[in-house]
Amino acid sequence: MEYVFAPAPAVAVPIADDVDSASTRECFPVRRVYCVGRNYAAHAREMGHDPDREPPFFFSKPADAVVYVAPGTTGEFPYPSRSSDVHHEMELVVAIGRGGHDIAAEQALEHVYGYAIGLDMTRRDLQAEAKKMGRPWDLAKGFDHSAPLGPIHPVSRVGHIEHGAIWLKVGGIERQRSDVSQLIWSTAETIAYLSTLFALAPGDLIFTGTPEGVAAVERGDLIEGGVDGLGRLSVRVV
Ligand code: MN
Repeated sequence: MEYVFAPAPAVAVPIADDVDSASTRECFPVRRVYCVGRNYAAHAREMGHDPDREPPFFFSKPADAVVYVAPGTTGEFPYPSRSSDVHHEMELVVAIGRGGHDIAAEQALEHVYGYAIGLDMTRRDLQAEAKKMGRPWDLAKGFDHSAPLGPIHPVSRVGHIEHGAIWLKVGGIERQRSDVSQLIWSTAETIAYLSTLFALAPGDLIFTGTPEGVAAVERGDLIEGGVDGLGRLSVRVV
């Protein structure tokens, strides 16, 4: 069978040979990008919600919203159209290597290929409007270039990331700092819950949520962030 035009290339994220090294050999083909909302208590509170009473909830981004940023380089984040309040959200990202549905939390980490650091960039003004009107979040969350991402670090090299600092600076000034251990729903619990809603498959990415300190960026800003054990990510807003 022939296509009427060339299919879009697979979105591929290099697998790191080594933390902090730009050297890569193989790629992780991205299938879907899931994101968890309000998964750190202090961030839930800063957004005006009670963190104690909510089951996890999810939204998604298109796979081609992912923009790879190599370690030691500075990526570019084009300031998106139709917004004047674009926020950074620094997140631990889980890369699924083995699929399944109704996965038990006790076995969930066996489905993880590796981890990365990523930014869930957000048109906060459009999100606020969507919340008020009871509309979907796609325009706020799933826009082009909305998911800058570092390389995938395999579990075989870095282990499971269950604690460690998560932080973000803009222009050298710290805005976000927490610890991955503060996740309301752990990586294992998130995989288990998400797998009751969707059959997970190899290539799925899960953005696990952002800690407190989300705020606006402007053109020209340098965003730097990281998670202990996974290196750092550097992106310029252009
Ligand atoms: Mn987020």
